[in-house]
Amino acid sequence: MPNSQNSRLASVPSVDSLLRAPAVVVLIEQHGRQSTTKIIRDVLGNLRQRLAETDGAVEDIGENRIIDEVSARLDAAAMPSLRRVFNLTGTVLHTNLGRAPLPDEAVEAMIAVATGASNLEYELESGKRGDRDVHVEELLRDLTGAEAATMVNNNAAAVFLSLNALAIRKEVPVSRGELVEIGGAFRIPDIMRRAGCKLVEVGTTNRTHARDYIEAINPKTALLMKVHTSNYSVEGFTKEVDEKEMAEIAHDHDIPFITDLGSGALIDMSVYGLPHEPTVSEAIANGADLVTFSGDKLLGGPQAGLIVGRKDLVEKIKKNPIKRATRLDKVTIAALSAVLQLYRNPDRLVERLPALRLLARSSDEIEGVAGRMAVELAKRLSASFDVTTEPCQSQIGSGSLPVERLDSYAVVLRPREEKGKGGRLKRLAGAFRSLPIAVVGRVQDDAFSLDVRCLENEAAFSEQLSKLPAV
Ligand SMILES: *Cc1c(COP(=O)(O)O)cnc(C)c1O
Repeated sequence: MPNSQNSRLASVPSVDSLLRAPAVVVLIEQHGRQSTTKIIRDVLGNLRQRLAETDGAVEDIGENRIIDEVSARLDAAAMPSLRRVFNLTGTVLHTNLGRAPLPDEAVEAMIAVATGASNLEYELESGKRGDRDVHVEELLRDLTGAEAATMVNNNAAAVFLSLNALAIRKEVPVSRGELVEIGGAFRIPDIMRRAGCKLVEVGTTNRTHARDYIEAINPKTALLMKVHTSNYSVEGFTKEVDEKEMAEIAHDHDIPFITDLGSGALIDMSVYGLPHEPTVSEAIANGADLVTFSGDKLLGGPQAGLIVGRKDLVEKIKKNPIKRATRLDKVTIAALSAVLQLYRNPDRLVERLPALRLLARSSDEIEGVAGRMAVELAKRLSASFDVTTEPCQSQIGSGSLPVERLDSYAVVLRPREEKGKGGRLKRLAGAFRSLPIAVVGRVQDDAFSLDVRCLENEAAFSEQLSKLPAV
């Protein structure tokens, strides 16, 4: 071993001396002795290894530098893995970014039940055991016109449970045009098989007729099912059987008709200048015996799967053990109930429900945000990037209204230099993601684009730009 390496190894501070350093005493106060000691050992171990591997030619091994690294590692470990981000991707209900943002009313309701005991399954009037569904059922009945309602962890669970409860060991005809895959693992044929029912494909990809369903029905048929093609649209020479007609066919044969709406808007979105999406009450009015839909798509609430419809069918679903295995947690029930309460006053909905507010935001208002943010971004980045505001199109997301786009504005950053453009854009996107509140945008067409439709807290966005690493 060369001498220089030996002497440098010997000058690495000891764990004990570091633990006595005033700056480390502060860290111990904050993070605890155990975690601090463990990270000090780790940092020193890495440093000694680097010294050995480089014949002692390692950077600064002074106490201050070591303490800085320990402090940074402790901070990183204390940071929650799941945290807030700015969603500037242009997809409002982004599944990977947590879908719908919740209103203050929901957050307050969640805190109230999360921090103490609640009447989750307890009837305050009689003092007897109660049912957790009651906190949401009445509201859902009012808002959809359905006889009964129940709820589970998400819509995938709602579909699975409905099929398992009503169609196990029986046949379910579904149009070939509706055998959808949603977000990877949710595929109608797979769900059917796992739920224990036999999928009977009817019609073709582009055309399915009433007679296709009628011919498929036999004594083993449990029900007719329609799946809303949420994330794509079939155009051209197409034909589908509408809900009303499917309900009639089903009822003529004494079987239920169920429809999986996916997004399940509770109100007519066109009132807010958005494209029309079939509503739950329309499906019920059209004769659906059960409707399943998500809580965190267009409804704008927490992750949940909602099942509304005929009382006898809902009762059957509630008795199924899978209902117990997929039931909602009290915090989610509190949030869902608070969100549904907002729907009781549709006049104020657009200001109080963030998901709807963002979807209905005017492009003039968004242009204003883009202009202000472009000024802030140009201050930091104009040396290497052209900063412009440009019209763009937002998507609703979560498979809702797949072909419709919403007029929006983006701040667009383009590298000034042609050379190494791709790498620079990648690094820029990475730099934005490394901010305390990560900013998620999109790299496309040789530019980094930030659709500011979902940017409401401009101050928090601008404030942290000073921490943007150089790229
Ligand atoms: C989104 C969707 C689902 C799955 O809903 P999750 O709430 O994500 O589980 C099922 N069916 C349709 C038609 C959908 O659009």
